[in-house]
Amino acid sequence: FDDRDGLIWLDGQFVPWREAKLHVLSHGLHYASAVFEGERAYNGTVFKMTEHHERLHESARILGFTIPWSVEQIDRATDELLAANNIVDGYVRPIAWRGSEMMGVSAQKNAIHLAIATWEWPAYYSPEARMQGIRMMFAPYRRPDPKTAPVHSKAAGLYMICTLSKHAAENQGYNDALMLDWRGQIAEATGANVFLVQDGKIHTPTPDCFLNGITRRTVMELAREHGYEVIERSILPEELGHTQEVFITGTAAEVTPVREIGEYRFTPGEVTLNLVEAYDAMVKRSHKKAAAAATSAA
Ligand code: PMP
Repeated sequence: FDDRDGLIWLDGQFVPWREAKLHVLSHGLHYASAVFEGERAYNGTVFKMTEHHERLHESARILGFTIPWSVEQIDRATDELLAANNIVDGYVRPIAWRGSEMMGVSAQKNAIHLAIATWEWPAYYSPEARMQGIRMMFAPYRRPDPKTAPVHSKAAGLYMICTLSKHAAENQGYNDALMLDWRGQIAEATGANVFLVQDGKIHTPTPDCFLNGITRRTVMELAREHGYEVIERSILPEELGHTQEVFITGTAAEVTPVREIGEYRFTPGEVTLNLVEAYDAMVKRSHKKAAAAATSAA
């Protein structure tokens, strides 16, 4: 992914893609002192961009460091980067990390770096194609207790168990893995939140040891606007036995139905379809609004 044309924003400068490098003794690499975001641009506008950059700042704060660029500056840099790379429908990846001034567990004097990359991520599936649903297995790793890890930070280190779980799933022919938490309750997928539909009501685990996704919160709002009851609570995996529909939500996943988790089977249905469509309409509405604002400003 490093050998391509384009520009990456690195510590305040636009640098050619192939030259966006860091030192091998960076603390972020050795000790995972790094936080990042995953964002999506629709028709040239990043959906909920400021919320993502506020979360980036919060993730860094939880890991004990301060990003030397404000949310507003990161918003502006992202817009400029999209324009410079001519990205209309794309993914945006900001990452902040501790640098290489000290090498050891302690990194009190290390400078904080910030990079932003963006690449094309064109049209997603049609709602019909997406409605088939993905196949998941139970992950080999569990989400840790909040006393074991800074679980509310979108921190690179927490993705170790996600990558291992995702690889295990892929190696056995599945699309993704469902992670339980340290108590054995349903937590989330390796890069998305999870929802269950039981008798027309929507249930989702309380985000007390995993990311309370921006898409998760958006979809909960949309569901309530559509008249569905949405219940946040602790959910044991056995409950999948009396669940009719399951879907996952995330910036990348959007709203994706699930047809299989371990020994359990589901049929993507009306509730999921309504939310797939409502979310699509919302992201489209958001860029229409942005386009209208740009026109009136011009
Ligand atoms: N959980 C994990 C582990 C994730 O990586 C993501 C994607 N950022 C999510 C949940 C969903 O978060 P969001 O809706 O903010 O993209």
